[in-house]
Amino acid sequence: MSDQYKIQDPATQYPKATPEYQQQQPAPGLETAMHPKPDDGAETYRGSGRLTGRKAVVTGADSGIGRAVAIAFAREGADVLLAYMPEEEADAREVVKLVEEAGRKAVAMPGDLKDEQYCEQLIAAAVEQLGGIDILANIAGMQQFVPDIADLTTEQFDATFKTNVYSLFWLCKAAIKHMKPGSTIINTSSIQAYTPAPILLDYATTKAAINTFSKSLAQQVAEKGIRVNVVAPGPVWTPLQVSGGQPVEALKDFGAKTPLSRPGQPAEMAPAYVFLASQESSYISGETLNANGGMPTP
Ligand code: NAD
Ligand code: MG
Repeated sequence: MSDQYKIQDPATQYPKATPEYQQQQPAPGLETAMHPKPDDGAETYRGSGRLTGRKAVVTGADSGIGRAVAIAFAREGADVLLAYMPEEEADAREVVKLVEEAGRKAVAMPGDLKDEQYCEQLIAAAVEQLGGIDILANIAGMQQFVPDIADLTTEQFDATFKTNVYSLFWLCKAAIKHMKPGSTIINTSSIQAYTPAPILLDYATTKAAINTFSKSLAQQVAEKGIRVNVVAPGPVWTPLQVSGGQPVEALKDFGAKTPLSRPGQPAEMAPAYVFLASQESSYISGETLNANGGMPTP
């Protein structure tokens, strides 16, 4: 397991993809069924009290980037409400255990983010069961590749926008009412916002929308003392990619085109969210932090 605290060459800190990466599961996919298993930081992440006493909502907290963030937030001292889909209970149980082992409260709340009522209930549950909300980390997302626009259904286009964009609108709207000065919102874009793949028309469009949504909202809520920022990952080894996110044959070279020529791991994304959630980033709002293996962005 790689140690994030030891100085080393980032290009060789984690392995390159291999033919073993060519695997497929039905969406949304389970991390417990992946091989090799993504690094969620559970073995290595050391907290240093940067989020002591905070109350955080993390969507997509069962697996991939959201899982690594939930673990890191808990080790930094935050109580965490975990949102995920009912099919992902097996992954979510592991994260609940890790949050509790960090000595923090975990509230598990499965549901469908395409449903406005569920989004409102999530925030209400944080207020009731955690006693408020200081951090909203919107990490859930849907990505299903379709090579030809002729085959991209209205149902999929709608589902991608509901999951990736509408849920942000609903969750932010509900959360901001309860947020005190110092609270932070962190949304999740992608390298796809800048260099969209032809097979990810709907997904890439939502990721650009997330950047713009965040830059607009950041200005609107600055006067309330709330900051809004974005993390834009590059290729990261998660269930999203092995459950319809990429053609299976592309996975053997996953991440190979980045300057670091390897996929990223969820454990490498979590510190970016911790930084943007903590008071250390106090003068940063409306920003997108790219964590993509060195690919240039605008
Ligand atoms: P992941 O599959 O582990 O996480 C995505 C999560 O989204 C799922 O676990 C699921 O809980 C949640 N989700 C999806 N649809 C939902 C719905 N309708 N209702 C409730 N929850 C729903 O994959 P990940 O790669 O960690 O994805 C996290 C975020 O990172 C996503 O926003 C994704 O777009 C973004 N991202 C990922 C990569 C990558 O290469 N993995 C690159 C750029 C951006
Ligand atoms: Mg999942």
